[in-house]
Amino acid sequence: MDTLSDSAYKILAVDDDAITLELLTEILSARYYVTVCSGGKEAIKYLDENNFDLIITDLMLPDMSGIDVLAHAKRRDAFAEVLMITGHASVETAAAALSGGVGSYMLKPFSIRELCGRVDKMVAKRSFLTKSLQLLARCDAIDPTVKEHIDDITSLYFFTRKLVLTLEISEVMRIILEEANRKVGAVFCSLEVNHLGYKEVFSMSRSGLVGKEHLNNVFAEHWNDAFICTARAIFFKGTIPHHVCEGQPGEFCEASGYKCWNYRLVVPGKTFGSLSVWMASDSEINDRFDRHLHIMTSIASPVIEHIYADRMALHQAKTDGLTGVSNKRHFYEALDREIARANRKKNTFALVLADIDNFKKINDTHGHQIGDAVLIELTKHLKDNVRVGDVVARYGGEEFVLILPDTDLDGAVTLANRIREAIAGSPFANMKYYVPYTSSFGLAMYDGAAPPINKDELIHIADTALYYSKHHGKNRVTVATKDGAGIVCKDTHSEYII
Ligand code: GH3
Ligand code: MG
Ligand code: MG
Repeated sequence: MDTLSDSAYKILAVDDDAITLELLTEILSARYYVTVCSGGKEAIKYLDENNFDLIITDLMLPDMSGIDVLAHAKRRDAFAEVLMITGHASVETAAAALSGGVGSYMLKPFSIRELCGRVDKMVAKRSFLTKSLQLLARCDAIDPTVKEHIDDITSLYFFTRKLVLTLEISEVMRIILEEANRKVGAVFCSLEVNHLGYKEVFSMSRSGLVGKEHLNNVFAEHWNDAFICTARAIFFKGTIPHHVCEGQPGEFCEASGYKCWNYRLVVPGKTFGSLSVWMASDSEINDRFDRHLHIMTSIASPVIEHIYADRMALHQAKTDGLTGVSNKRHFYEALDREIARANRKKNTFALVLADIDNFKKINDTHGHQIGDAVLIELTKHLKDNVRVGDVVARYGGEEFVLILPDTDLDGAVTLANRIREAIAGSPFANMKYYVPYTSSFGLAMYDGAAPPINKDELIHIADTALYYSKHHGKNRVTVATKDGAGIVCKDTHSEYII
């Protein structure tokens, strides 16, 4: 400590584990002033009374979570640098820490080199911020144009930093809209994205409160999709409205008492959306702010593109390419989740396997393309008949599976027969082909109150029921149950159908 200069940076380390605190002090006190404390309340007291250049906090503290310490630090100073260290990692906590604005996240046990690297980098960022702000404070005497430039560059710097802190779409959109609103004093701003099959609009007013009237005025009858309201913004999902603004991007037009300026979201070779800035009709966007919005959108474009590409990759990893329903991998994940949930809540769910009858013949007679079209049509019947929260997945070639949570046997049998009848009653037809087809079903129940069985056993029971349907005339629903003697199959057409 004695050797540190007065200008050395200050670090607050918060951890209930004395050994970790000792280690952090030992590693960092050669270069920084390190203050340590073991609880959240104590940390908050320190934060209120001092200015720290970096806060290092454990995730799990005895009296509160490290996320709460992070939130307090950010409330006091939006650019506080916080490094979170935890031995209890989960995607959820990492996501919570990230969206709370954590600068860095490390797992225990950590390597000393990595810790030093991260701490030095975060402190350097902090020092850049402090110096920029000091410089800005001294700018009063400088030429106003230079001051504006410094102001613009600083806000772009912070905008970029905030933008890369999160991969959450709504959060990224909020950051962009908030910055655009703030910078130019817009009435409200919208981001429209039309990319990789996603068509979404995110909107936010300068006051943070978006009145539907703003949007109704502007989008008028073009807009009747669902609103998703969060505390600070209204996000639209669904079809992109037919844009009332006829002007070219970067130009403005007038609509319903507002003027609108458009800025394209561009990645090499493609415009995939735009930022619309709506101003009161008696105000203007001057050249300086116009330039600023151009730069902002060019910084934001690759970030937004990356998020949507990620989102699509995640979707594709879970989806069957032909039919758009879940794939086998996602089905297994969902089944694991459902078994765990049924065990916890001691309730039942149904597993239904469906297999198209004589599908090979359809392929052989009409060709593979028609076979594919039949598969797509069949999934429509499945999707049309299930509830939100049910899982529809392609299990194999012409075999599908449904997970029906919180469903009892009667409900599942009724649903399976409804789907079976819908399929049998609506042959595939186009200009050239008329292809009647049917499907067989096998059903098994999982009971969270009974002795647990694993997913393979459950699938095997449903498969046995399906096999029974196939060998007893097809186009039918069979229920299988397992008891001490083995698997018993019941044809629902004699048992359940009146
Ligand atoms: P069963 O009534 O006993 O189920 O007889 P099936 O003809 O439906 O069953 P089988 O297992 O003999 O044949 C399934 C056929 O499904 C064979 C395979 O070529 C075809 N198939 C699998 N995946 C696809 C696909 O993605 N598209 C098309 N068109 N056909 C597929
Ligand atoms: Mg088949
Ligand atoms: Mg089959």
